Amino acid sequence: MHSPSLPNRSIEMYGSVIDSDQLERLRSLAESLPDVRVLHVNSTATGGGVAELLRSIVPVCDDLGVQTDWVVMDATDEFFEVTKAIHNGLQGDRSPLTESMKSTYRAVTERNAAEIEDVYDLVVIHDPQPLGMLERLEETMPNATYVWRCHIDITDPSEEYLAFVSGYTSRVDHAIVSRSAYEANVEAPKTSVVHPSIDPLTKKNRSIDEETIETERDRMDPLSFDAPLVTQVSRFDPWKDQFGTLEAFHRAREHVTGLQLALAGGMAGDDPEGLEIYEQVAEAAADDPDVHVLTDLPDTRVNVLQRGSDVVVQKSLREGFGLVVSEALWKRTPVVGSNVGGIPLQVEHGQNGYLVEPDDVQGVADHLVTLLEDEDRRTAFGSNGRAHVRDHFLLPRQLADLFGVFVTVLE
Ligand code: UDP
Repeated sequence: MHSPSLPNRSIEMYGSVIDSDQLERLRSLAESLPDVRVLHVNSTATGGGVAELLRSIVPVCDDLGVQTDWVVMDATDEFFEVTKAIHNGLQGDRSPLTESMKSTYRAVTERNAAEIEDVYDLVVIHDPQPLGMLERLEETMPNATYVWRCHIDITDPSEEYLAFVSGYTSRVDHAIVSRSAYEANVEAPKTSVVHPSIDPLTKKNRSIDEETIETERDRMDPLSFDAPLVTQVSRFDPWKDQFGTLEAFHRAREHVTGLQLALAGGMAGDDPEGLEIYEQVAEAAADDPDVHVLTDLPDTRVNVLQRGSDVVVQKSLREGFGLVVSEALWKRTPVVGSNVGGIPLQVEHGQNGYLVEPDDVQGVADHLVTLLEDEDRRTAFGSNGRAHVRDHFLLPRQLADLFGVFVTVLE
């Protein structure tokens, strides 16, 4: 296990996006958690939404007086192959789960659990990867309360994988999911819904001066910000459907002169599929000078890209929540997204973007053309998107919801 480095954060820094009532509520919830020590456990410090979220939330919890630590598992490629299969199985993939996969999972999770020496009152286990640590942790911390936070889209899980994961989740005290539709498939004594959020203060989300924008734009050359631009920012992952986005782009381009597509993606530390999908996407785009496959962009460049795109697409086939959608809306960029997982919580059809069914490539193309041909609509959608995220998907709101759950489970 290791502890990632964290940015400096205090709740006061959120003064521009939190009113005094919200701040009071947060402070009073934090005061209801006196002397409570909280541990978050997940499986990567970089890449993907969970790491993004913990990096911001953990230091603010500490600032509010709720002692909070975050540790990340150390694991082998073999383990991450297994946990990606579990992730995919929970999202609906029907490949088999073998005894050998289960024993790899158990061995690595037990080894990681044995490395935790401190004692906590509340342990939050994120996603399936660290769930196998439970048995050992229950021995070393019998008085702790255990919460499983599931960030995955579990509307249609494989029975075999769900049964394996349920063997663990039935032992926790409480589970948290990102959308109420997921609750039915979680086997835990109690469940709550907490919508994730973005942090408006990170390099990825804060406003940027013109000079930095220009510098970062130059670094993305030959991508041009003077021609129409559609972007998807996602891990290279089968569920993110970069190929569907590519096809929708091809169809939209027939109507929009000079249209470009940026597919920005990274490799999360716990996601072994990334490289293979990246290579397939890069190959599919290789002969097209208007498709730009960008990898491992620094956060400021992701910010400039989301901000400078005319439309952002999120054509996922499954999506736990999809922080990238709020990231784009916060920057006043309209989003065309699939009507799956957490995307419809964020995209208000006809207000800040458009929702399409996940197999509807032509629908994506049509909505792209509508938006790309209508600057006034894009501007109006952009303002609506910013307001929607401000009201629902910024860090202080999520923190209040989380503290609310913590208070309940510790009662
Ligand atoms: N991300 C990034 N660079 C990339 C791809 C993704 O910084 O090349 C970030 C993205 O901005 C977002 C997170 O990774 O903050 C992805 O979170 P999301 O909830 O959208 O999806 P997940 O990867 O957790 O399925």
